[in-house]
Amino acid sequence: MPKKIPAKEKLKEIVKEVIRSRLKVESQEELARLALRRLRKEDKSYTLSPTRAKRVALILPDVEVKAKTKKTIKLPKINKCPICDFSIESIKVKNLLNKEITVGYRCTDCAYESDLEAFMPMKYIFIWKHSI
Ligand SMILES: [Zn+2]
Repeated sequence: MPKKIPAKEKLKEIVKEVIRSRLKVESQEELARLALRRLRKEDKSYTLSPTRAKRVALILPDVEVKAKTKKTIKLPKINKCPICDFSIESIKVKNLLNKEITVGYRCTDCAYESDLEAFMPMKYIFIWKHSI
């Protein structure tokens, strides 16, 4: 059976639903598993990676993403997009000490995103903001 990748808008809705119903999801693997369960009710051929689930959660305004680390991570600094030369913005989350850390970069123009996972594995926690 061919694999089906959910569209970004659809995935945003599903990931939002999952976190809203759970209030807190303890890892990107669990987030992907819960989101995929909902997606597969519609179509069994859907597939979803933990990294993609996390990336979508990072752009949801109702969700706070926290890195489960106390360390500050040094990412190689990039100033412009390696694909299109446009400017790059940092993707920041708070760590367990409530310090902001950069966990990746996102192009302000094209779809380019780089991820901390490429440099070191990282655990995240996803919190529904309105539950606090
Ligand atoms: Zn770009």
